[in-house]
Amino acid sequence: MLNKNKNIVVTGTTGQDGSYMVEYLLENFESRVFGLVRRNSNPNYSNIKVVLGHSNFELAYGDLTDSHSIENIVRRIKPDYFINFAGQSDVHLSWEIPQSTWEINTTGVMNVLEAVRKHAHLCRTYNAGSSEEWGDVIYSPQDEQHPPRARSPYAASKVAARQLVKSYRESYKLYVIQGTLFNHESIRRSPAFVTRKITLGVAKISKAFKENKDFEPLELGNLDSLRDWSHAKDFIDGVWRMVNQEKYRSDLGEYKNETNLTILSPMLREYVLSSGENHTVREFVEKAFKVAGYEGVWINGGLDEEYIINGQNVVKINPRFYRPAEVSTLLGNSTKARIELGWEPKITFDQLVKEMVESDLCTS
Ligand code: NAP
Ligand code: GDP
Repeated sequence: MLNKNKNIVVTGTTGQDGSYMVEYLLENFESRVFGLVRRNSNPNYSNIKVVLGHSNFELAYGDLTDSHSIENIVRRIKPDYFINFAGQSDVHLSWEIPQSTWEINTTGVMNVLEAVRKHAHLCRTYNAGSSEEWGDVIYSPQDEQHPPRARSPYAASKVAARQLVKSYRESYKLYVIQGTLFNHESIRRSPAFVTRKITLGVAKISKAFKENKDFEPLELGNLDSLRDWSHAKDFIDGVWRMVNQEKYRSDLGEYKNETNLTILSPMLREYVLSSGENHTVREFVEKAFKVAGYEGVWINGGLDEEYIINGQNVVKINPRFYRPAEVSTLLGNSTKARIELGWEPKITFDQLVKEMVESDLCTS
């Protein structure tokens, strides 16, 4: 168990992964956890409401695009771990806001790396990488060796961040890792992503059915996209294992830094986290409605495709949700993480869909 003297900075704490990471750390360790938030006109701390007030938790302002704020935090706290889950995470939106996507996801990562290099050289640092980096994949399932083939400004920003992470690790001997995480979801997933959009839509339509009211069908884009979806909670455990690879010291060789402290080899391993199965968006729609007690049929095809339940159209296509360049299939091979980190996902795809739909049914 990590003792109280360890300081852990987590960014992106108002989002899905950061909030689960903060909870995981506070539940399992006695370390002091600093959750970074950026300034917002209407702050939304709903994902961290359960940890606000916890004696080992402190909120601090820090914006990845403001190097001063990140440097000040790192200089003040001297973290033992810096877990960076902050990001512009919306792939579709990255075509609308490419520059800020880059500034947050790439320049922001450089700001973290520089701050750690200058003020917390032994800090174990994690940056959130994505399976989107592999884009139009050339083999399946994808493992750590797959080359980057970005298809969006978002993916390009993560590829560039990965190269920064690699070069800082090799140049300055930092313990810094960028994992490659396939899609992971939960009841905290933003409605901008297709899974949550569907579960919220199912809840709204289900309510309308029960109350015999009119409703607008759910509008989606590419129904044939294949994604390897997991539960976000499973991935938090995997990320924590990545930044705690003690047993690989001897395999990779230790070295001394200028303060003569032994730290890990720069050849740290980066890992894929994935479930190892993929499903279409169409299948997610069917399963989500089934959890709510409805089964339907798909009619027509192409842009006219519709999902019909009780004679009513509940899903239709809106080309607005198609992407300028699609990643049509992703499927992860996480064998390395399973063998070397002893990690494995515990929550199945069906359980994930059920949890998300039931939660949205309760709150709609
Ligand atoms: P999320 O729910 O969208 O959360 C993103 C977080 O980043 C929010 O707390 C957001 O704060 C914060 N943020 C954005 N810009 C910031 C800035 N300039 N400075 C400080 N904080 C900032 O995303 P997530 O699903 O938790 O994903 C976490 C990370 O993993 C992201 O980098 C994402 O790209 C990456 N990733 C996610 C998945 C996935 O399937 N979930 C897969 C691969 C990689 P506000 O609340 O203020 O907006
Ligand atoms: P991503 O894999 O990180 O881009 O996660 P998303 O949940 O945003 O998208 C997953 C897949 O669903 C992509 O291939 C999208 O093109 C597809 N998709 C189909 N309809 C929609 C939609 O209405 N919204 C979103 N976000 N994605 C959609």
